[in-house]
Amino acid sequence: MHELSIAQSLLDIAVKNCKQNGYKRIESIKVKIGKASGIMPDALLFAFDAVKIGSIAEKASLNIEEIPVSGYCECCKKNFTVDEAFIISCPMCGNISIKIESGRELHIEEIDVF
Ligand SMILES: [Zn+2]
Repeated sequence: MHELSIAQSLLDIAVKNCKQNGYKRIESIKVKIGKASGIMPDALLFAFDAVKIGSIAEKASLNIEEIPVSGYCECCKKNFTVDEAFIISCPMCGNISIKIESGRELHIEEIDVF
């Protein structure tokens, strides 16, 4: 399961960060996930709940913010944002000369510690 290793890395980063700064407990972790990243938020939440047990983040909640897919069309010379996870052509004109600019990312936005 893809999400399990992602949840584990998120946890490792958060724990390391927390300890480096002299904190003992993680309250919550906020992450941003691009819709085109291939990560299922529900599966990630489920995986996080499993990996956090026994760690300093045991009581922590994972807050996921989804980032829509956006890009630029060479043909329309415009930026666009779509709800779909994957697109292969411009939603306005159908041209395939598009550049995806966001939606593939996964990063930790915030870690609340005590
Ligand atoms: Zn277009």
